[in-house]
Amino acid sequence: MATDRIVVLAGGVGGAKFVRGLRTLARRTSSPAAITVVANTGDDLWLAGLRVTPDLDSLMYALAGVNDDERGWGRAGESLRVSAELTAYGVGWPWFTLGDLDLGTHIARSALLKEGLPLSAVVERLTARWPLGVRLLPATDQEVETHVVTAEGELHFEEWWVRTRAAVPALGFVQHGVETATAAPGVREAIMEADVVLVAPSNPVVSIGTILGIPGIRAALRETSAPVVGVSPVIGGSVVRGMGDVCLTAIGVATDAGAVALHYGARPAAGLLDGWLVDDVDAATVDPLTAAGIAARAVPLWMTDDETTARMAAAALSLARSVRE
Ligand code: GDP
Ligand code: CA
Repeated sequence: MATDRIVVLAGGVGGAKFVRGLRTLARRTSSPAAITVVANTGDDLWLAGLRVTPDLDSLMYALAGVNDDERGWGRAGESLRVSAELTAYGVGWPWFTLGDLDLGTHIARSALLKEGLPLSAVVERLTARWPLGVRLLPATDQEVETHVVTAEGELHFEEWWVRTRAAVPALGFVQHGVETATAAPGVREAIMEADVVLVAPSNPVVSIGTILGIPGIRAALRETSAPVVGVSPVIGGSVVRGMGDVCLTAIGVATDAGAVALHYGARPAAGLLDGWLVDDVDAATVDPLTAAGIAARAVPLWMTDDETTARMAAAALSLARSVRE
């Protein structure tokens, strides 16, 4: 099976780590695969008059190599002078730190949006600055916003996540605008023409869930002849980094590699997945998942560096190949 055209559905930090490993793998072959990354835009928001797109930026910064690896988000070598001024004026969210370099991105993006460019064209303009080695597409050009339903009302996902550290009990999630959103230009085409579609080990609820909520993307994933293979974001009953388990719990899915796969569902049964990678510690889920119509395989899934992640991406492509046969 050719794996010349790879599409990856991705959230921010987990998605970026995975795509970097995949890019490392692709660069090693004589004719590198064309990688298209479809990024979640449900965490986007207007703040201090600026359009902020957290997952697109995590992907762009990490692939450009200008991200802050230690902190895990934003730009390396940041300063906070502008943010301090905004706080002094009482504008924006004091707990949602926007560094000076990062604000440069948001100002540029907002300026282009206000000139009338759709988000996908803005992303193309911003990423032209750096050779990312992948094509980065927002899932949609429309504004889709994930809100968290709590006993005190709805909060934007980022307010719930960053200000309350996901401590306010979530009763559910609402993706405002998702049902009427259309896939951004190029997304459906990329999925339909792909040799393989990979689902990054990203948050299944608010990252991948929002991408899948866009009707045109959902339909394309069902129609494409490309195998769809996902990588578990849960290892040994934990989400590895962060608080993503709270999101799973809120929608009634166990924090378990097998449960997440069944939540996505088997493609033959109108679900998403043909294949699913779990970590070695979750090897016991392989047989039940395979019996449920999702070809599963156990390999190391810790994304400790690009090299390790490249091996994981190779396992995903190999599983896709065997599913196809
Ligand atoms: P966000 O948008 O920045 O929250 O990032 P994503 O949605 O792309 O990914 C967050 C998820 O990545 C976390 O909830 C973890 O489940 C997953 N993750 C992070 N590090 C690793 C890792 O090393 N291995 C695996 N398998 N999953 C990871
Ligand atoms: Ca995110």
